[in-house]
Amino acid sequence: MQVVAQTTAACRRCGGTVGLTYETLPYIAVGPSVVELRNVAVRRCSACGHMGIDVPDVRALDVLVRCLCGESTSVVPRLEYADGRWRILARTRSSDGR
Ligand SMILES: [Zn+2]
Repeated sequence: MQVVAQTTAACRRCGGTVGLTYETLPYIAVGPSVVELRNVAVRRCSACGHMGIDVPDVRALDVLVRCLCGESTSVVPRLEYADGRWRILARTRSSDGR
C-alpha cells in the first residue's frame, strides 16, 4: 500500500495525520454477499489506523449487488465465519454443490 496524498483533515479519533490511498477492498453489501471494490479512495490515520472508504453511491451499489446475487447466486462470493475469523469464499458454478 502506498500513501499517495496527505489529506488536510485530521483523524476524528486521535487528531493524527490522515493519508489517502487507492486500494482494492472487499465490500460487504447485502446479506452475506461480498463484492470487490477496485481503486476506491481510502482515508487512513497513520497514528491509530482509523479508516474511511469513499463509496460514491452506497445505495446504488447495494442495489447492484442485490441484482448480481439474484442473477447468479452461485458465482457471487460469500462471507462466512469460520475458525474465529471472517473469510471471503469465492464461489464458482461448479463448486456450488450445496
Ligand atoms: Zn487516528
